[in-house]
Amino acid sequence: MPPSPSVPQVSDRFPGPRREDCPWCGSARLRTRLRAPGRQRGAAVALDECGACAHAFQNPPSADGAPRALPGRRHRATARALAGLADPESWLDVGTGHGHFPEAAKEFFPYTSFDGLDPTARVERALGEGRVEEAHRGLLTTPGVTDRLRARYDVVSMFHHLAHVPDPRAELRAALAVLRPGGHLVVEAADPDSAYAALLGPRWLPHSHLHLLPLSNLEAELAGLGCAITTTVRTHHPQEPATARPLPAPLRAPLAAAAALDRLLAPLTRHTRLANTYRVVARTPGNPPA
Ligand SMILES: [Zn+2]
Repeated sequence: MPPSPSVPQVSDRFPGPRREDCPWCGSARLRTRLRAPGRQRGAAVALDECGACAHAFQNPPSADGAPRALPGRRHRATARALAGLADPESWLDVGTGHGHFPEAAKEFFPYTSFDGLDPTARVERALGEGRVEEAHRGLLTTPGVTDRLRARYDVVSMFHHLAHVPDPRAELRAALAVLRPGGHLVVEAADPDSAYAALLGPRWLPHSHLHLLPLSNLEAELAGLGCAITTTVRTHHPQEPATARPLPAPLRAPLAAAAALDRLLAPLTRHTRLANTYRVVARTPGNPPA
C-alpha cells in the first residue's frame, strides 16, 4: 500500500497553499472539477479532481470548510439505523459540534458512554449540557489526541467530518487507532458520484467542502487497513434551501421548489443515483476483549 502522501502543514481552519498532487493518492494528474463563487463577496472556490483516484478537493483550500449542524431528526434516524451495533460501552463522536448526535443516540444506546471530539469550543458546551461524558478539543490528527485516546472505543463515528479536515486519509487512519480490536467505525459523507452533484453544480452544498471522497476510495482504504466492511448504505438527505449557497434572485424560487420536491421524494430517492450521501460501517481487525 502506498504511504499517505505528505501534506503541507496547515492549521485547523485552514487556508493553505495550492498543491500540485492529490491529497489522497499523491498523483499529479489533477483536473478542474468546478470553479464557483465562494460565500464571501469576491471569494472563489476552486475544486480539483484527481485523474487517478477521483478524490476531489478544494485547491487551494478556502476558509469556508466549517461543517454545519444537522437537523435533529437526521441524527435520530441515523442512530436508529445503527441500532444493530451490539451494546457498545464506549463511543467517540468525531466532529461532534454541539453533541447533538450523542444526545439523539442515547435513546437507542442507553448503556453507552458517549465522548465528543471537535476542533471548536462547541464540544465544551456539549459537555456542560450533559450531551457527552468527555469533551476533547481538536482533530484526531492533532498532536497528542490519538495517544490520549488510543484503543479506548468500541465505536467511532464520523458524520460529515472527513470533508472538513486537511488530511482525510490521515484522519481516517487515526480513527482506527482509537478503536479497540474488533471495534466499529461509522463514516457518513456526501457522495461525489451523486447525480445531484452534476445537477446542482456550484449550488450543491458539498461542493463548498474541502474534500469529496469517492465511496470506492474509502472502502478500498478500509479494506487495505484490514477492516471488514459490514454495511454500506446510500441515503438521501434533502438539501435545505436555507443552507444552500447565496443565490441570484431569479434562481431562488425554482430552487426552493426543487428543494421542496427533493424533501418529498427523499424516501424514493435513497436507492438511486440521486442519493447524495453514503454511510459505511467497518469492523476493525481482532476480537473485542471478552
Ligand atoms: Zn488521487
